[in-house]
Amino acid sequence: MVVVGAGMAGVQTAVALREQGFRGAITVLGAEPHQPYDRPPLSKAVLLGKAEGSAFDVDFETLGVELRLGCQVRGVRPAAHELDTETGPVPYDVLVLATGAEPIALPGTEGVPGVHLLRTLDDAERLRPVLTQQHDIVVVGAGWIGAEFTTAARESGCAVTVVEAADRPLAGVLPAEVAAPMALWYADSGAELRTHARVERVEPGAVVLADGTRLAAGAVVVGIGARPATAWLAGSGIALGPQGDVLADAHLRTCVADVYAVGDCASFPSARYGERLLVHHWDNALQGPRTVAANILGETLAAYDPVPYFWSEQFGRFVQYAGHHAAADRLVWRGDPAGPAWTVCWLREDRLVALLAVGRPRDLAQGRRLIEAGRTMDAAALADPARPLKNA
Ligand code: FAD
Repeated sequence: MVVVGAGMAGVQTAVALREQGFRGAITVLGAEPHQPYDRPPLSKAVLLGKAEGSAFDVDFETLGVELRLGCQVRGVRPAAHELDTETGPVPYDVLVLATGAEPIALPGTEGVPGVHLLRTLDDAERLRPVLTQQHDIVVVGAGWIGAEFTTAARESGCAVTVVEAADRPLAGVLPAEVAAPMALWYADSGAELRTHARVERVEPGAVVLADGTRLAAGAVVVGIGARPATAWLAGSGIALGPQGDVLADAHLRTCVADVYAVGDCASFPSARYGERLLVHHWDNALQGPRTVAANILGETLAAYDPVPYFWSEQFGRFVQYAGHHAAADRLVWRGDPAGPAWTVCWLREDRLVALLAVGRPRDLAQGRRLIEAGRTMDAAALADPARPLKNA
């Protein structure tokens, strides 16, 4: 078994293969030189210097997993069952693609000093002194990473301006009425959020917007999204989707025999939601590998069709989301969105399909089970935050 990518999905694939009884050789190839680590702490404790690192608590030696770090895989030749690396070919019987995602750079700023991305441990380590030196920072993009970075930068006492091209934070992810209360969190934290703001160019010490505004910037942090790290698969015959995502099937197999894909690099068809999902969240990189291992080792195939889940820690709040609301026909509020704790529920034909909980982890836990069960709900009862979430 060879796994490409030593992030959460790759490491969990190796762990799941062993947990499910596989005794043969497992090799994990990872491009980064560091001991495999968890990414969520990078925009939280690691960035703030509250944690030195976030290495996974996995003993690869005891597990009997060969870890080859600093090993960038350049290509795959499925007919030969071989990978190409800088140090020569690596054969495989079964291959798992777990190369994750890469942050999207702001065009024209690649390699410009003072312009940062936040995806890797190296990125977080480069950003730590920016926070301790209390630079004026311009954050480009008010998405999940932008919000978490802004939180850490404000906690460190930096002046932060966030520029967002859309009319609100999280525009691609949440509807306007849900994003509206979240937009206010920026100002509450002392950061300035500028919407409808397009970056024209970055100059030494400044960001210039399309309307001519110059914003002083001791550092610029770009958080405008990530795309699957799959360029190395070009020409391999492994089918990719429009976003560069490996097109996995319901069993997380690619279109090529003996090749599976999991985590941020792969999309899969969801029968539950009736569409293909590309999920860039931690829980998907934890759950998917169990299905991959089961399908590699088992005699019958298991379908991967989770209720997606993620969390974000921003502006002193714990934000959690479960489900997928694209096809919802109704939105129900539980609690006051101006307050510290509230929940939004999305229904489709009276069934709960998704939920966003701010400071209400119990709603999340109960709601997640109800989404999984797919039962009908009493919308009036749902709207009462004093009542537990339960089906009609
Ligand atoms: P990755 O973690 O990207 O790992 C892929 C690995 O493959 C990388 O180490 C990469 O170097 C390696 N690789 C790529 N190409 C090659 C190649 N050709 N050869 C060899 N190796 C290669 N999710 C949440 O739900 N909640 C959060 O609060 C949260 N916070 C986050 C904070 C940050 C700063 C980031 C960046 C992400 C956060 N996420 C969060 C998302 C979550 O971390 C990811 O969904 C998860 O890391 C995906 O795991 P993965 O293994 O699929 O990909």
